[in-house]
Parts: sequence; C-alpha cells; structure tokens
Amino acid sequence: MKDLNFYNLARNNIQSLHAYIAKEIPCKIKLDANESPYCPIPLKSIFSKEDLFSTLNRYPDPEAKELKKAIAKDLRITPESILLGNGSDEIINCLITTFGGPVLHPIPTFVMYAIASQALGQSHMAIPLDSAFDLDIESILKSIKKIKPKLIFLSSPNNPTGNCFSSEKIFKIIDTSKNIVIIDEAYQPFSSQKGFLPLLKDYHNIAILRTFSKIGLAAIRTGFLIGHEDLIKEVNKTRLPYNINAISQAIAIEGIKNKKIINSHIKVIIKERKRLYGELSNLKGVQPFPSEANFILFKVSDAELVYKKLIEYGVLLRNLNTIVKDALRVTIGTPEENNIFIQSLKLTLDSINS
Ligand SMILES: *Cc1c(COP(=O)(O)O)cnc(C)c1O
Repeated sequence: MKDLNFYNLARNNIQSLHAYIAKEIPCKIKLDANESPYCPIPLKSIFSKEDLFSTLNRYPDPEAKELKKAIAKDLRITPESILLGNGSDEIINCLITTFGGPVLHPIPTFVMYAIASQALGQSHMAIPLDSAFDLDIESILKSIKKIKPKLIFLSSPNNPTGNCFSSEKIFKIIDTSKNIVIIDEAYQPFSSQKGFLPLLKDYHNIAILRTFSKIGLAAIRTGFLIGHEDLIKEVNKTRLPYNINAISQAIAIEGIKNKKIINSHIKVIIKERKRLYGELSNLKGVQPFPSEANFILFKVSDAELVYKKLIEYGVLLRNLNTIVKDALRVTIGTPEENNIFIQSLKLTLDSINS
C-alpha cells in the first residue's frame, strides 16, 4: 500500500503552519522561557494533600469552582467573570474559536495570537510596532476601520520587547474598536503600571488574560481570562471539559494562599532586573531595552554568535534575531544565575572582539 501523505491530508492553513517549537537545549542556566527561578510552594504542602492523591481515579471538578473562588476573592471580582484555561495559550485558542477573525495584533509580540489564528483558519493582521516598540496608533486605527477585527490582542507588558504600551493609545483602540480588545497581562505582576483590571466595569469590550506561568508555576499550565460575564459565558462554550486537571487546580489554590511568597519573589526579580539592566548598559556593544517584565531584550552586534557562545558557557537565552534584528532575550534568574550570565557575556564579547 502506498504511504498516506499526511501533509496533503491536512487543511491548507495547517500545511503552511509551523509547529511552535520551544527549543529544549539542556543548559545549566535556563534563562530562555520567562519562567520564575523560584517555586512558591514547599514540596511537603503538595504531598500532604491526601484527598487529592487518593481520588486520582476521578475526573477533576469541571468548573474548578474552588480555584475560581480563590482567584475571585484575591482580585475582588466575581467567579462568573473568570474563565480558566490550560495556560493562557488555550484561552487564546478558545477566544478565536468563539469569535473568529479577523484578528489584529502588533508585531513583534507573543506568537500564539498568530499561530492560533492560522491554525483555526482565521485571518490575522500584524501591525509593526514603532521604533520605540510602542503601538503604531495611526496604522492600527486605520486597520480597525478597514477590517473590523473581531479580536485585538495587546500584550502589555509586551513579550519580547518588555515595555508597556502607552495606555493612552490602548484607550484609543478600546474606544475605536466595536469588538473585543484582549489585554494580555502575563507580565503585569512585574510592571510598575496598574494594569487594566479596574477598568473592566466601565468597558465591556475588554477582557484581561493572566497566568500563573511567569510567577513560579509554569508547570501547572493554568491561566485565566477575566471579562464581562456574558463574554465569559460565550467563550466557555468552546472550552474543553475538565481542561484544568485536579493537580493543577490544587496547586494553583495553594499558590494563591502563598501570595506573600510569590510577591517576595517578584520583588527580588524586579530588583535583579534593575541591576542587570545597569550591568548590560555598561557593556560596550550591548544595547538593553527598558523592561517592565521578568526579562530584558538587548541587542548585540552578532546575536547568533553570542547566543551560541553563551550555550557553551551553559547559559541559555532566547535568540530573537529573526524577529528583532540582533536581539536576544534574557529572563531574569536568581542573583547567582544572573552573575554567571553577565560573566559569560563579558567573556563572550571579549573573545569576539579580540
Ligand atoms: C508566556 C506568555 C503567555 C503564555 O502563558 P501560559 O499561561 O503559560 O500559556 C501568554 N501571553 C504572553 C504575552 C506570554 O509571554
């Protein structure tokens, strides 16, 4: 029998899609994925959960009621305004499945907005950021009028550039769009700006994405959308049943209980971000960009080479050269990890320049 050609069998929009490959290069110092270097939950408090581990034969609570209650209490919102996802990635998929395209987002930004649009066969438009990595408001407003996007995704602070978009511009977009504006606040906990949560009651066309991933619990794959109860109700129709497994539900609740620990870790990371920014600024041939997130984007003269040399020192960064020319992204690690990164970068630059 002739072999099946699965590539040809796939829908056209899937054929032209590339899988999201998170390169897992084994390195001692992992500063590539914007994870927290700290886990906020002591091991013993996880393994003492007898009622969890004695009922693994049962499906989890499909509505994750306890977790929603905990988030609602923490953020002073109603449980009905929360939709939980297997990472915010899943919620991005649900949003596009629910409302369809066109989808509009700036570029460079988080790649899932584009990947999910394409995978679901929906058109999307990417509008380049300006030279300060802020929103090109003229082009965006023009496009809103022209293509009438169902969904606009704005990551603020933005990944991979690290800055918050000007809130004035975000307001203009919210006011102009007749449809939905999603503010992705994955990095909000690290930002000096307030975020858009307080505005939900005044604006029904915005919704906010948050996640446990960047604050110490990436492994549990739990993110959530906060929005008008009617919006949540629609998106909830496309959510797969039992999408948050029992272990994730329990650990996320534990995370909220340990909020003080999470906040103390965030404080350390912000302090380290400031120090690292100063160190990078002082290096000849390195141009870091100010960041409100748990990572710093910086330019060097030969990003590919620096990226590879750092791996030889056991330090893994994210190579963004194909997206932002000459740019690498470093996640803020522990003070010790950051020291090794800076030391290795110095040695790398010396060896290139000599
Ligand atoms: C990391 C990241 C996410 C993904 O979060 P998960 O909850 O882990 O899926 C969402 N948005 C942005 C901008 C991110 O950088």
